[in-house]
Amino acid sequence: MESLKQKILTEGKVLSESVIKVDTFLNHQVDPVFMQSVGEAFASRYAESGITKILTLESSGIAPAVMAGLSLQVPVIFARKRKSLTLNEHLYTAEVYSYTKKESNDISVSKDYINHNDLVLIIDDILANGQAALGMVEIVEQAGATLEGIGVVIEKGFQEGGKTLRERGIHVESLATIASLSDGHVTLQNKEAIV
Ligand code: 5GP
Repeated sequence: MESLKQKILTEGKVLSESVIKVDTFLNHQVDPVFMQSVGEAFASRYAESGITKILTLESSGIAPAVMAGLSLQVPVIFARKRKSLTLNEHLYTAEVYSYTKKESNDISVSKDYINHNDLVLIIDDILANGQAALGMVEIVEQAGATLEGIGVVIEKGFQEGGKTLRERGIHVESLATIASLSDGHVTLQNKEAIV
């Protein structure tokens, strides 16, 4: 997705060899018009999958997921990082370890919103080691639903997440892939090089 690649190159701030800050358009400020085109890009990649629900994780996954839901005309559920104090027995839960925050969080989704008839598309902002995505995959499995794929806005191709998920046979689509953050520079991966 060309406009996304331009934003990463011009607005992304390399914080270290492995972390990029993209607060101007993804993790803090959201440009709704741009985000709508992100949603449309996901929708076209999963147009034939018969998606019935989109699952994401609060908070940065919500904007791209809602825009994809708008395009596909399906509901969007965001997994919560804190359990509510009530209705615990009525939740699907999974543990997610965050390498950036160095802590584990339980994520949870009410059993009311995903069931065995659903064809689920997982959407997230950034794919790094794949822990967040795997937590959401576990929730889809607990629901007995069918996982149709995982769409991420930015994949960090030099980390393990994409490989882990694809090795499990999951249809992963990333709208832009970062090949490296070495020497303070963002190097994007060409589409040809991904395959
Ligand atoms: P994973 O579970 O795949 O290791 O990491 C996924 C989550 O960690 C993303 O949803 C994102 O919130 C956060 N994350 C991982 N790497 C980066 C990064 O380089 N920059 C930012 N801003 N967030 C990241």
